Amino acid sequence: MEQRTVVRCAEGHLFSTSTFPMQQLGPGRLGPGRLIRCPRCGRLRSSVPADVSELSAPQLARAMRLEAAQFLA
Ligand SMILES: [Zn+2]
Repeated sequence: MEQRTVVRCAEGHLFSTSTFPMQQLGPGRLGPGRLIRCPRCGRLRSSVPADVSELSAPQLARAMRLEAAQFLA
């Protein structure tokens, strides 16, 4: 079963990706994020995992429908 991660791009857009390397990004290690092509921006953005506990159900549902097409870098 595919597990997707909700991420937030540098512009604040929420989307999801199935390829985010969560094992390298535990709590307190969010750092500079990873470059992912944000489906809202349409360009590479530094993105970090979103804190899903801070998101509303509609925000979460919308992010899960917006999946990053490609994982780069
Ligand atoms: Zn964006």
